[in-house]
Order: sequence, then structure tokens, then C-alpha cells
Amino acid sequence: MPRACPHCSATAVHAYLHGRRDQSALVWLWCSSCRSFIHASTRAPTWWQNLGSIDAAGLGATPVHLDEASLAIDRHWAQLPRARSVSVVEIRKLIPPSTRPVTSARFVLLADGTMIIVGRTPEATQAVEELTAQGVPGPGGTYIKMDAGMEFLRLLAENFRGSRLWATTVFEMEEDKALEISPTDA
Ligand SMILES: [Zn+2]
Repeated sequence: MPRACPHCSATAVHAYLHGRRDQSALVWLWCSSCRSFIHASTRAPTWWQNLGSIDAAGLGATPVHLDEASLAIDRHWAQLPRARSVSVVEIRKLIPPSTRPVTSARFVLLADGTMIIVGRTPEATQAVEELTAQGVPGPGGTYIKMDAGMEFLRLLAENFRGSRLWATTVFEMEEDKALEISPTDA
């Protein structure tokens, strides 16, 4: 922050979230230059903290008070401890007649090198555990197991390809989001 404004191109877009106890939040995005703004409700990331100097009572739909505090708000963003990102591979499944795949399970490589499987259901976790228990085919006829970390993820992504059940490529996710599969996950 600040970011470029899609309306006037000035680098003057600021953002502020006002998080509540239940993790719901109000969000404002505004441009100090052309005054365009967006106000909506959202879900605060787990690492978000409200800025103490912002008086919740003074927050209206228009970000007038927030704009006065924009310097402090930009600094606040820079100081927040962001969620760590982790590498994941998802096992996705097509359940006909639906044409939209669902995430059945997710392999999550934590920062300390531990691999965990997060399944949509306990049965899904178990099925994926069993499918990969012997490892995935590696170079020279070897089988690479989960404890190989990133090498396992890459080989899983390359080798686990079916028409109804397949592995995605390796991608990054925020750690807190990676540890649960939400009903809306692909
Ligand atoms: Zn603008």
C-alpha cells in the first residue's frame, strides 16, 4: 500500500479492514486522489489486526476518517505479520453428473518440512493416504515418499493423473487456508 488506482491511475489506493470478534469484517478501499471508494463486508484474514487509533464508532460507509489516517494505515499494513505461505498439491475429483471438480484432499508441505494431508472428509484423507502410501514413481524406478517434501509434491503433481481423480500442479496457499478445505473449494 498504496496501490495504483484503476480509475485515475494515481498510486493512492489505500485499504482498511475493521475486523469483528467473529472474523467478519468491514472493508474499505479508497483512492485519496480521485475519491472513488468501495465499501463491503468480508472475512478478515486470521493475521489481520485492527489499528488501535481507528475509532470504530467514527467509521461510516464513506472513508473520510480513514483517508485522514491513510499514512498510519499504510504503515500498519507494512507491520502486520502476514500469514506464511505453504506449497500444496490438491487431489481433485469429478463426481458425475457434476462437471465441477471438488478438492478431495490437499497435501500441505509445512515450513518445517512436515507433510500433512487435509481431506474433505476422514474417508477422503484415508483414501489418499492409501493411494500414496507406497510413494510416487521417481527417477530410475524408485518410489518417493511423503517425507521427501517438495520432491514428493512435484512427482505427485506429474504422475497422479486420472480422468476423474487427479493432482493439481504445485501451488502456494496461505497456511491457515491450506489447513482446512472449505465447502466452496474447487
Ligand atoms: Zn483514483
